[in-house]
Amino acid sequence: MAGVALPDRRGAWDVTVEGGRVTSVEPAAGPPSGLLALPAFHEPHVHADRAFAPIPHPPRDLHDAIAMADDLRERSTAEDVGDRARRLFERSAAHGATRLRTHVDHSPMDGGVRDRRAVRAAAAELGDRLSVEIVAFASRELDPVAAESRAALAAALEDGADVLGAFVALSPDPRASLDALLDLALATGAPVDVHLDEHCDADASLLEHLAEATLARGLEGSVAAGHCCALATLDPDRAGRVVEKVAAAGLTIIALPALNLYLQGRRTGATPTVRGITLVHELLAARVPVRFGSDNVRDPFYPYGDADPLEAAWLASVAAHVDDRAVLLAGICGGRTAIAPGDAGAIVTLPATSVQDALARRPTRRTVTRA
Ligand SMILES: [Zn+2]
Repeated sequence: MAGVALPDRRGAWDVTVEGGRVTSVEPAAGPPSGLLALPAFHEPHVHADRAFAPIPHPPRDLHDAIAMADDLRERSTAEDVGDRARRLFERSAAHGATRLRTHVDHSPMDGGVRDRRAVRAAAAELGDRLSVEIVAFASRELDPVAAESRAALAAALEDGADVLGAFVALSPDPRASLDALLDLALATGAPVDVHLDEHCDADASLLEHLAEATLARGLEGSVAAGHCCALATLDPDRAGRVVEKVAAAGLTIIALPALNLYLQGRRTGATPTVRGITLVHELLAARVPVRFGSDNVRDPFYPYGDADPLEAAWLASVAAHVDDRAVLLAGICGGRTAIAPGDAGAIVTLPATSVQDALARRPTRRTVTRA
């Protein structure tokens, strides 16, 4: 690619990619192209099985959204799920993502096998344009405490799921549910990605327990947690202690700015007074990897969105006051912040003059280079 702007350098540059790697970055021999080159995006958290599903009304709160999602799952066919997933994957790839992690509901009533296979088949249609990781997402009907639930999750890993996930807040004993999921991770070797603390109730926060349970099992580096909104409601001393444990446990924290802004502090007819986003700066200061995901796209939980990683980064900047463009890029590029010789050749180019310009306008007409 000739005459491109880069996130960490001034001027225009010629970037050569060969054999799947960046082999050279040289000052441009010709005029600027008007294009910005960024590391290809890595979408860390979506729900492909529900995306673009029509809903009767905007959610009144998280529990109303869960009820609508339950209803949606009951009346969805495998074809519906496959169509939604295909549409989401196509949008994500068009925005410049080459990797994506999607949670897929695994509950007794929907036959987790059916929907997961529909999502996997949709992912296969995109071939090497998009590498899709599937989280077997244990909804509240599949409490990992129960042996049959753990057997279903273990079977999911044998049948196309890559990661173990759960939403434990509504379990009778959420700590025991987390422990059981981590025990299964230890037994199977699968990574974990849980929906955690998607609320602003300090007393109900489970993040400290997740960090301690991860450390107790030696699972450092293989556990991620999405949302973690309640961390921002802890008193500063306790929050500092939790952040230290999160860092020691090697957790990755995935903030979902659009969903957190939309659902947290939601009261019908009243203006929200909380932001709902986790302690991004404090986690980063402790060297915790923080990612920014799209989460729900036009489904029972959120009526907007298009799975554009640039939108997630822009909203993270606005909601959490993240001004460091490298932090924003790391959050949507799987930790990458620049393009240098030796880097992976997965690069997205888009008509923009800088990262700030790209975040401000989120332009279309993006091109992805893989090799
Ligand atoms: Zn989610």
